[in-house]
Amino acid sequence: MSACRVFISADIEGVAGIVTTLQTADGAAQYQEGRQLMTDEVNAAIAGAFDGGATDVVVCDSHAGMQNLIPSHLDKRAVLIRGAMRDSLQMEGLDASFHAVFITGTHARAGTADAVLDHTWNGATIYNLRINGRTMNEAGLNGLVSGRHGVPVVLVTGDAATVEQAREYLPEALTVAVKESRGRGVASSLHPAESCRRIRQAAAEAVQKRHTIPPMHVPDPMVMEIDYNRTDMAQTAALVPGVARIGPRTVRVEADPDTMFRLKELLVYRLRYEL
Ligand SMILES: [Zn+2]
Repeated sequence: MSACRVFISADIEGVAGIVTTLQTADGAAQYQEGRQLMTDEVNAAIAGAFDGGATDVVVCDSHAGMQNLIPSHLDKRAVLIRGAMRDSLQMEGLDASFHAVFITGTHARAGTADAVLDHTWNGATIYNLRINGRTMNEAGLNGLVSGRHGVPVVLVTGDAATVEQAREYLPEALTVAVKESRGRGVASSLHPAESCRRIRQAAAEAVQKRHTIPPMHVPDPMVMEIDYNRTDMAQTAALVPGVARIGPRTVRVEADPDTMFRLKELLVYRLRYEL
């Protein structure tokens, strides 16, 4: 049997039943429930991957402190990448040895109407992020990293607005909409058991169809523009060599893709802005 390696980047805001940061923030009142719901959906994706012919599955915990998935509750066939301060935010561990990527539990970009907990990387700092003039969401940015390794994103799960938006970047990926937003903190959601059933089914199909889904095109060179929430954040980012402040709260940088991915980690994640 030839190898079929599946990489799952797992976020939490796009999981069925999740509508509030009380379910997504470590230490918040409903966090234990939220992480269990997330773990169950990821287990459905893992099971579907194996149903579809995967030979091994790596799961990258991709939300906030990146220690949300409950290790002992995770499908024991999977390997878990866990913990923060990593070099590739939601794609840590991906390389060209993989054959397919799933992006689960993801959410719409900052400024999307009728999307649960819409934001881009860090709601406290990032107002908007563009690559070559195109406003990105996290699924699209992760698609670029996958594309750089020649690996297709074959499955995206989240709320209805998110999976519709994902088609802008990943038109051939299979999608599962697990809930429909009725505002940033309101949704009509599938029952978790039903969302898991659909995710497992779509995951199996996505792995089987992986040869028909192309990796996302990666422009070279790449121009990234970031609008921060505040002027002092742009001022701080512009201290990095090569990063130009082109507006009161906007910076611009041009680089080859690999350099750009490193700069993205620095500017949206590792650099600490005073809040
Ligand atoms: Zn998240």
